[in-house]
Amino acid sequence: MGYVEGLKCRECGRQYKIDPIYVCEFCFGPLEVVYNYDEIKKALNKEVILSRPKNLWRYRELLPIDGAPQVGLHSGFTPLVEARNLASVLKVKKLYIKDDTVVHPTLSFKDRVVAVALTKAKEFGFDTVACASTGNLAHSVSAHGAEAGLKRFIFIPASLEASKIIASLVYEPNLIAVDGNYDDVNRLCSEIANKYKWAFVNINIRPFYAEGSKTLGFEIIEQLGFKAPDNVVVPCASGSLLTKVWKSFKEFHDIGIIDDLHTKVFAAQAKGCNPIVTAIKSDSDIIKPIKPDTVAKSLAIGNPADGYYALKVTRETKGYGEDVTDAEIIDGIKLLARTEGIFAETAGGVTVAVTKKLIEQGVIGADETTVICVTGNGLKTQEALAGHTQLPYHIKPKFDSFEEVLAKINKK
Ligand SMILES: *Cc1c(COP(=O)(O)O)cnc(C)c1O
Ligand SMILES: [Zn+2]
Repeated sequence: MGYVEGLKCRECGRQYKIDPIYVCEFCFGPLEVVYNYDEIKKALNKEVILSRPKNLWRYRELLPIDGAPQVGLHSGFTPLVEARNLASVLKVKKLYIKDDTVVHPTLSFKDRVVAVALTKAKEFGFDTVACASTGNLAHSVSAHGAEAGLKRFIFIPASLEASKIIASLVYEPNLIAVDGNYDDVNRLCSEIANKYKWAFVNINIRPFYAEGSKTLGFEIIEQLGFKAPDNVVVPCASGSLLTKVWKSFKEFHDIGIIDDLHTKVFAAQAKGCNPIVTAIKSDSDIIKPIKPDTVAKSLAIGNPADGYYALKVTRETKGYGEDVTDAEIIDGIKLLARTEGIFAETAGGVTVAVTKKLIEQGVIGADETTVICVTGNGLKTQEALAGHTQLPYHIKPKFDSFEEVLAKINKK
């Protein structure tokens, strides 16, 4: 059933057999999964995809597992919402929200990557999974690890949103809150991963984990009627999702599922954590690490592992990148909620606000089709909105009291 040929170094091209490894022994480049596309072409086409259940496993030939999926069987195939109201506010013709705020068990796109990572971890025979997380990964590994019957060590920055900490703890993992930012947590985890033979989903399982992100891209194309959009706006933390959305588009093109591919890929970051966008804007090849300070904690990676590759994708596709302030992020969340009834977490505020900016700059054209990736649910980061929403109208349990307030509302 597997169509995977092996792992390959993205830098020097050296090949490795499938193992829980992630870095080239010769040049320290990152390893990536390689498939046999000739065989996949024979097995996978539109009809086969359309005949399958609506979850992320309908593209399983293009995912790096050997046997049947074991975890996260119902994740994926989230709605692609045509955002007519938002389009009219932003004065463009065709705007879509890829809505990963719903369907997934932990309400973020991380359930895609974790479904693949934990299935692979089980295939490798691990009994313990671990991760370094900016929040959503902690939540997702905690949940899926429980489902899979795996021991879990979850490492987070101690300053994470309280709601994300509770949402992870309910599944009873070993949750380790580290005094430091994500980059500190990740560095610590690399040391731990050297000693303990655990499946670290974003370290030794990373090449497999990252492939799960492709399903978001496959779905966008399928849901547009097997067409690629003109533009796609992707939030960046490590930059992995952005590179994999582009990989998914290219794979569908290479195996003949779509004929035409001209999509521009845009990177979206918060101004308080913008190492990738800074490099894009200054046309530099160097991603300069920074210390994150933003409400968009799920994107707060100051030293992004795939930053360079994300940057290359935006260049190769003639896309671009933009960054937005915390105030713009909050406005983005509120704009999406007010116009489309979708409550996104801070990362969604980032992509909506960045798209608005790119449209105002004329970088995204009014006649083009644009997909905005909204990757997590707003209920997960409610505290980001504290003090930024209107307040309830407070009344006495009396009819007059209501009439008074109604008069005020009608005057607005
Ligand atoms: C993790 C995450 C991303 C992007 O992560 P990458 O590391 O760039 O792949 C985007 N949105 C949300 C909500 C996330 O949790
Ligand atoms: Zn190499």
